[in-house]
Amino acid sequence: MSAAAAARQILTQLHEVMASRLHPQAKLDRVVEVIGEVLDSEVCSIYLLREGMLELFATRGLEQSAVHVTQLAIGEGLNGIIAERSETLNLAEAAAHPDFAYRPETGEEKFHSFAGVPIVYRERAIGSLCVQHADPRRYEDIEIETLQTVAMVLSELIAHAGLVDDETAALGAAASGPVMLQGLTLVKGIAGGSAVYHQPRVHIDHVVAEDTEAERQRVYLAFDKMRDQIDTMASQAEFGVGGEHVDILQTYKMFAYDEGWGRRINEAIDAGLTAEAAIERVQQRTRMRMREIDDPLLADRMHDLEDLSNRLLRIVSGQLGTAATQGLKRDTILIARNLGPAELLEYDRRRLKGVILEEGSLTAHVVIVARAMGVPVIGRVRGLRGIVREGDEILVDADKGIAHVRPVQQTADLFAERFAQSRQRQAAYAEMRDIEPFTRDGTRIQVMMNAGLRDDLAALPLVGADGIGLFRTEFQFLVSATLPARERQTRLYRDVLEAAGDKPVIFRTVDIGGDKAVPYLDSVTSEHDENPAMGWRALRLALEREGLLKAQARSLLEAAAGRKLYVMFPMVSEPWEFDAAKAVFDGQLAFLKARKKPLPEAIRYGAMLEVPALAEVLDQLLPKVSFLSVGTNDLTQFLFAADRANPKLAERYDWLSPAILRFLARLTQGTVGSGVDLGICGEMGGRRLEALALLGLGFRRFSITPVAVGPIKELIRKVDLPQIEETMKRLLASPTASIRAELQAWAEANGIDTD
Ligand code: PEP
Ligand code: MG
Repeated sequence: MSAAAAARQILTQLHEVMASRLHPQAKLDRVVEVIGEVLDSEVCSIYLLREGMLELFATRGLEQSAVHVTQLAIGEGLNGIIAERSETLNLAEAAAHPDFAYRPETGEEKFHSFAGVPIVYRERAIGSLCVQHADPRRYEDIEIETLQTVAMVLSELIAHAGLVDDETAALGAAASGPVMLQGLTLVKGIAGGSAVYHQPRVHIDHVVAEDTEAERQRVYLAFDKMRDQIDTMASQAEFGVGGEHVDILQTYKMFAYDEGWGRRINEAIDAGLTAEAAIERVQQRTRMRMREIDDPLLADRMHDLEDLSNRLLRIVSGQLGTAATQGLKRDTILIARNLGPAELLEYDRRRLKGVILEEGSLTAHVVIVARAMGVPVIGRVRGLRGIVREGDEILVDADKGIAHVRPVQQTADLFAERFAQSRQRQAAYAEMRDIEPFTRDGTRIQVMMNAGLRDDLAALPLVGADGIGLFRTEFQFLVSATLPARERQTRLYRDVLEAAGDKPVIFRTVDIGGDKAVPYLDSVTSEHDENPAMGWRALRLALEREGLLKAQARSLLEAAAGRKLYVMFPMVSEPWEFDAAKAVFDGQLAFLKARKKPLPEAIRYGAMLEVPALAEVLDQLLPKVSFLSVGTNDLTQFLFAADRANPKLAERYDWLSPAILRFLARLTQGTVGSGVDLGICGEMGGRRLEALALLGLGFRRFSITPVAVGPIKELIRKVDLPQIEETMKRLLASPTASIRAELQAWAEANGIDTD
């Protein structure tokens, strides 16, 4: 009999047994009989986890008196090893295995060969299924296959029959010990909560197929749909909603068209599984193989296949939502390979406490959003998804770039102390709220904050910023399912201005594109763009889609009636682009004037300086603008030709490298005496050591993430400007690759804490 036929025969009978009205124990007794008969096996036993021990629950062939008597610890004996490592064993001579543990009450001494597979439920081993024979022989691959398929079906049936309690099912046997993960600090802070996967695991309700052909059709259709999705993503070379990169998409594509994968799923369907169970079965097998692979590159590819398999599972089951759609039930540490900013914004801010990513970089927009939300983030954590399981308790120390998964009590206690310290520090910064940031030599520095949503304004009085130096209007576009209508925009801008009171708000016109993909504008943002960050984004797109900019201009002009309006254009690369954008505002202003509508009391226009080319024509730009704001996030990526969202480049270039600092120094020198107010609004300005350098280069206006306002104000009050200016001059005259170490040493020597 083929493996498929044997499995099918067992599954059909299992299904009947489990659907019968028998008592759970009687069902298990039947199950071992069925498996033993079909596989022609002298012994078939099921061990299940109970109160942390593996217990013999049912057997055919061993002594019946051993049932519910024989117990093994996790990791003890062959079954203990299977459960601990979620591993399959196939042995001709069981007693020869170093972990063999003889249990006389079972009478197993007459049996020599042994094959066992884990019973895995929701990625956790909850028991083992094994067969034994008197003659010493290794089991054929097809027999092992059959056992694995049967174990999978059994796991669902066991869990549904209540044979293992929920707690056991949630904890499982393997890898439940504490693990410390190490990654890159993307947003500082500490947090604790339960692990929630951004892409939740699909729950499989039916494992045994009623109509095999129908299941096959469902898989075919799902494959078609998945290939379409991947093709679209890959051909547009866009950063998909999950933030996937081109090389990942290419691997996806390779797997999506891989015949072997489809064939294996088909075989599992032949064995009698539903489409979902068949996909899961193949995925399980891949996972087992993955554990044996030592090559990190190959393991990465296997992760890609796992991602894709999850995607296929979601399509086939129709369970398409992310964890955000399902709602967070408790304090959460979100786990993902990567995220888009819009995806993060969908989460409930009160429950989302931290994020751990397998990828991620400091200036990716998702990280900027998290920073603004005050959510600590660790990125670049290798093997994350292989270690953390849904529901695991996690303590995140993003200051140090580490996370404790399933921490022991001692770690949790230490953490409680750190929490308290952090709260104290926050309280100290909160006290800075009403203190004006004067340097020691008496210069008042402007400390504004960045924002993007209505809710962000709540932070303004709390941190005591001087205003909003960058309002990223595209965030409203990112969180909306459709293009926000003009009225909705006007309402938002009006609310923002109202919330800001008499403090200024600099509205930046939409900066869509790059890693800020907007699904309903996909065709415009990513069409033909091989490199979206340098592509048809921001002002380029807005000038082409004039309707978009016109609507925004009108909304802003109307919302600011009777007040001062500050408008800033993103990604200006040449001065004429500034003129063209301003002309759109002028047109709308004339329109409102003609209709005698109330107008802003004054309008100031400015530009982001984030494309290096603009710095070369500063003399032409300065007479046109009232203010300039340096966007170091984009500026760095263009200056170094280093994609800001590429995790591999995340640690490569330092903001304190002479190239950036000299560039910025030239800018400040170039604007002296022009009357143009020069500020900085990239993430760089919110970091203490970097801010110190910027003060030394001549920057006097900062717009930073709200949580950094307190720390930066405190820093400013310790700084003597002539001193730091002098120091920066000295350090930049004959610099090393990065002046970080020298500047740090100088700061320490001068009593300035830059952590
Ligand atoms: C920047 O590029 O530095 C910036 C502030 O704008 P964004 O991060 O929104 O691109
Ligand atoms: Mg930018």
